[in-house]
Amino acid sequence: MVQPVNDSLYAQALAPFLAETERLRPPDCELIDAHTHLGLDEDGRSLALPQLLSLLDAAGARRACVFPLHDPERRPGYRVPNDRVLEWSRESDGRLVPFCRLDPSEDPVGETERCLAAGARGIKLHPRAQDFVFDGGEMDGVFRLAESERVPILIHAGRGLPPLAEGLVDLALRHPGAVVILAHGAICDQGILTSALAEHPGVLYDISCFFPLDVIELFARVPPERIVFASDPPYGAPATTLYLALRVARQARLSDATTRALLGGTMAALLDGDGLPAASAPLRGASITLSGRLARVYGYASLVGPALFSGIADQAVAMLEMAVAACRDPDPGEDEEALQTIGAALAAAGKLMVEEGGARPAIDLVYRSIVRAATEVPDPA
Ligand SMILES: [Zn+2]
Repeated sequence: MVQPVNDSLYAQALAPFLAETERLRPPDCELIDAHTHLGLDEDGRSLALPQLLSLLDAAGARRACVFPLHDPERRPGYRVPNDRVLEWSRESDGRLVPFCRLDPSEDPVGETERCLAAGARGIKLHPRAQDFVFDGGEMDGVFRLAESERVPILIHAGRGLPPLAEGLVDLALRHPGAVVILAHGAICDQGILTSALAEHPGVLYDISCFFPLDVIELFARVPPERIVFASDPPYGAPATTLYLALRVARQARLSDATTRALLGGTMAALLDGDGLPAASAPLRGASITLSGRLARVYGYASLVGPALFSGIADQAVAMLEMAVAACRDPDPGEDEEALQTIGAALAAAGKLMVEEGGARPAIDLVYRSIVRAATEVPDPA
């Protein structure tokens, strides 16, 4: 990661978010990242073992589940990237739990058996990258193996997918003993998947999402014990997503015990062979409370990241300026501190964005700002 030219500007804007993280984090809480990658992706992104470990350290996470990216050397059947991930996990002193990534068209059952024998403790499926939709019976063998070997299957359920909910629901319901982790809050079809899989005893949802509302809504739809911390590096960062997790937990009024389950307790039970904790009812009703002032900030600020990712820098700057303007309010009411913190963070992000290597810290500040704006709730009386 390139360091921004203006390190102190970033550090200053970040400070209130870090202080809040420490305040909200329950003591003696294990943080486990359920979704991380190592190696190289076709899109040019990459992550090496020392980088991943230092990202985990920055968030205070000891353990993580790890699997390959969409590796250019994946043929045949992900063998080479899976072997690399297995080796890096062995070098990680027990911190990384390797999952094997599969291509359904290239002997997925054989590759799973090979990797489990070599120490893998889970399976990763990516229906967009590997271009499949669970409509036939081709994944039943893998699910059967996951059931009998008691290893979870993490499935990309984020952007860019054709409708696959029906096939996936049928497959999961044919294998009630399998633990399935739907990544990215199952945003590809969150409504259908959370409803249709409500009776499945082993479906988890990971919170690696860019838009906090996707995670907030999960708490209205599924038991809190089925929602797990995950950040998807190299695309996300554990420290940034930890802020999301803690803010959303506070907004949903999670107890310390349930917050611990969200941050790592549920995954620890799963990875350590204790089985999933019992599930309670979803916590929240259908609506959330958001101040009008912060809703305006959220609206503009949430458009900055997508504009930046699409290379439309002018649009990113314009939306950022609108968001900063929405933070200027001589009559801020109970939003005073939030508007001040977010306004300063977004102003700093605007300066960092145009500096060499400043895009990543800028996005980090924008992300934390939209998290704060979307989760601001009055303190319980
Ligand atoms: Zn991922």
